Amino acid sequence: MVPLNDRMATALPRVVIVGGGFGGVFAARRLRRTPADVVLIDRGTSNLFQPLLYQCATGILSEGQIASPLRSLLRRQNNTQVLLGEAIGLDPDKRTLTAVRPDRSTFDLAYDYLIVAVGMRSSYFGHDEYARFAPGMKTLDDALTIRRRVLGAFEVAETMTTPEARAEWLTFAVTGAGPTGVELAGQIRELATRTIAREFRSIHPREARVVLFDGAEAPLATFGPELSARAMRILAKIGVELKMGVLVTNVDPRGLDTKTKDGTTERYNARTVLWTAGVQAVPFVHTAATALGAEQDRAGRIAVNPDLTVPGHDRVWVVGDIMSLHHLPGLAEVALQGGRHAAGQVHRRIVGKPRSDDSFKYRDLGTAAYISRFHALVKVGPVRLSGFLGWAVWGVIHISFLAGARNRFGTLTSWTFALVFGGRRERAIP
Ligand SMILES: Cc1cc2nc3c(=O)[nH]c(=O)nc-3n(C[C@H](O)[C@H](O)[C@H](O)COP(=O)(O)OP(=O)(O)OC[C@H]3O[C@@H](n4cnc5c(N)ncnc54)[C@H](O)[C@@H]3O)c2cc1C
Repeated sequence: MVPLNDRMATALPRVVIVGGGFGGVFAARRLRRTPADVVLIDRGTSNLFQPLLYQCATGILSEGQIASPLRSLLRRQNNTQVLLGEAIGLDPDKRTLTAVRPDRSTFDLAYDYLIVAVGMRSSYFGHDEYARFAPGMKTLDDALTIRRRVLGAFEVAETMTTPEARAEWLTFAVTGAGPTGVELAGQIRELATRTIAREFRSIHPREARVVLFDGAEAPLATFGPELSARAMRILAKIGVELKMGVLVTNVDPRGLDTKTKDGTTERYNARTVLWTAGVQAVPFVHTAATALGAEQDRAGRIAVNPDLTVPGHDRVWVVGDIMSLHHLPGLAEVALQGGRHAAGQVHRRIVGKPRSDDSFKYRDLGTAAYISRFHALVKVGPVRLSGFLGWAVWGVIHISFLAGARNRFGTLTSWTFALVFGGRRERAIP
């Protein structure tokens, strides 16, 4: 067992939180005054602000602006220890979690209460071989890989000698027209038409084709028909080609193949293919579900009780993207409210004031998607915003959720630079 540091070697109950995303960090914060030893373990050192990953991938923001060190975030919380390790095993009878350190050695952690919030990863719908050619967008590594591929494609195109070869390198295929795909496609067009438009001599970056594919009939379908139609118009205006109602049937190093419902097939030659089409639970979720005898849905999410505990395990909670309850969507708000809710129950149990009904009630604060400069969509209850107003609200929401004043200030400066001058400073390819 990993001993806690001396300061924390107490007889207090131990709460282990696995995952330092929205769910895990908000759970830890809720426990700051709880008489408990809280341990937050993550396979990485940072809390990643996934909603702005695409801005890191397209050179507007740096890694540091969207990833805050977990130790720093929780430094003032004396009852909390942060550990670096990837959870790989769970024994609910012994109440022990097993994790692996970066040097591949393993250690065990005992817990009295466990909150699991390990999130999702990209899903290639049974075709994991596509991952080599089409990076997904879930981690910082993904964003940096995409940045390298997108910027690298313009560089390679500049050295190509035939129009056909240039066209292949200047075609960017994005699969999945949900918020992430739309944001990424829009940003690649803005990068090509504003930031680097005058920086090359052989190619015209403005001619870059950005093609967005989805099986649905329209982009951003979850925003409803009105906003979805508006998104379609804005995307067309900035030059994103939409291929809706098509299934991607193959991805290879030189492009992808599609099929429509009527059976028509088509080939797209594109040296850069980016994948935002689906998500599935990270591997530890299956390990945990098996150990707990819990049910998983098709994407691997664990079915939880209304209070977010796992059926048959009243000391284990599952929150965030990996929980399956009432078809709640994979959104930051769901994760952070779920994390707080689970931790609230732990707190009440430890201080001896449990509630008879502790069901989770999600407060829907809406969703937002950025499309292009001064255009974003916001849906909050019956309210629908788009255009400049939507963009302003989108900006306020994202800035307020970023961790730390320094990141907020830095992000505002980078946005101003990008919006006014089209500038993107984060373009180094190592
Ligand atoms: C590109 C993108 C854009 C998005 N945009 C929006 C948006 O605009 N609005 C919105 O509301 N939501 C958005 N989301 C969704 C939102 O980011 C997620 O719903 C939210 O991050 C889920 O939080 P979580 O805590 O469940 O998981 P995560 O935030 O994914 O955190 C999981 C944590 O667990 C860690 N982990 C994983 N496996 C292990 C393991 N075995 N052991 C230890 N640690 C582990 C990971 O390192 C990570 O830190 C977006 C997501 C993506 C990918």
